Amino acid sequence: DILSISEFAHDVVNDMQFLKKNKQRINMQLEGEDTLVLDAKKLRHILENLISNAIKYSPDGTDIDLHIQNINGNLQILVHDAGIGIPEEEQIHLFNKFFRATNTGSVQGTGLGLTIVKRYVELMNGSITFKSLSGKGTTFTIKLPNLD
Ligand code: ATP
Ligand code: MG
Repeated sequence: DILSISEFAHDVVNDMQFLKKNKQRINMQLEGEDTLVLDAKKLRHILENLISNAIKYSPDGTDIDLHIQNINGNLQILVHDAGIGIPEEEQIHLFNKFFRATNTGSVQGTGLGLTIVKRYVELMNGSITFKSLSGKGTTFTIKLPNLD
């Protein structure tokens, strides 16, 4: 699909608003060219999963940052939250099926979201990495190469 990143990102973030019940603010920063050729369905799924996690696992009044950079069709996406983080000793399991960290409290989930995100990123020949500090927050970085 040919998409406008600004339209696409605003659209996705808008669709996620119902989840956050005004708890957090989602800041968006877009860099580079606006036009992109990419599998929009997969990208939407990836973003929705990462943003819903950021919302679920961070407290009221914190900021969630979404940075999207498009340089010659090479996409870099950052989703940052100032939430509960993932305990260091559990981080190696993060992309495993049904993994849920021990600090999620009463927050519900199946532990499948990130497994699917990783699968999609790989199908798009991209990479996903993260940095997380327990009690401080988490940043996911996704890189998707220009495939044409
Ligand atoms: P769902 O399948 O509905 O997405 P889930 O959110 O529990 O359920 P994943 O999205 O795969 O599953 O995430 C797996 C686990 O990783 C979560 O249960 C949570 O413990 C941890 N996690 C994921 N994202 C974050 C985040 N942004 N901050 C803190 N912990 C996170
Ligand atoms: Mg999830």
